[in-house]
Amino acid sequence: MAFLFAFGIAALVIAWLATEPFLRERRRRRLRARPFPEAWRAILRQRVPLYRRLPVALQRRLREDVQVFIADKDFIGCDGQEITDEVRVTIAAQASLLVVNRERGFPGLNTILVYPAAFVVERLRPEPSGVLQETRQVLSGESWSRGQVVLSWEDVLAGAADPGDGRNVVIHELAHQLDQEKGFANGAPMLERHRYARWSHVMAVEFARLREQSLAGQPTLLSDYGATEPAEFFAVASEVFFEQPGRLSAEHPALYDELSRYYRLDPRAW
Ligand SMILES: [Zn+2]
Repeated sequence: MAFLFAFGIAALVIAWLATEPFLRERRRRRLRARPFPEAWRAILRQRVPLYRRLPVALQRRLREDVQVFIADKDFIGCDGQEITDEVRVTIAAQASLLVVNRERGFPGLNTILVYPAAFVVERLRPEPSGVLQETRQVLSGESWSRGQVVLSWEDVLAGAADPGDGRNVVIHELAHQLDQEKGFANGAPMLERHRYARWSHVMAVEFARLREQSLAGQPTLLSDYGATEPAEFFAVASEVFFEQPGRLSAEHPALYDELSRYYRLDPRAW
């Protein structure tokens, strides 16, 4: 009897595992087919200038992705930040830009925490001596490997308002989410197996170049912050890829090429 019961449970689990991707895909299709609210369209036009530059077909796909993102993810206001449609749509649109041509979306991401402005994080960090030292950092965004992203609304707005300065906190933190999909961040998101060798080579060469230039105090297209570690390099390079594609492709063609293949986009054409 117990055997039959266990067998029944196992059969149910297998049936669920087999149908779950199908049900999820059906739900996404339903969400995509919903009419896009006119008020959301106005928010996109007003708050996300990069959206206006996209070709019409990509604009439509981005709107569909925004519907899925907003339905799938929890937005939580912190420190009195109200979660309005303006907050949801402005964040969802910039996030969805990274995956507009990629089928998977952000499967590991479940929560977006939004603060009104830059927030303070206090952490214990080990000093070289081994003693734990309390540090205080003021951040505009942060990405956690268990599916959370933290954003400052003030910085989200500032990042969106100037789509050509290569600084965008939503793109930065959501690039970390893509990198963290495999459980940790090292600057290499999930790629087709045969692409890792070239990706690692290009990233290592470009990372070393940025480190050298930033140590020498030379001006660089990618911000110095990208020289701190490979994971930050990928996030910083992603910001520039979407916001200054012409310069990135002229000054770092191999890097542009890798990112273009990964995101399956060519923002130079926008
Ligand atoms: Zn970062």
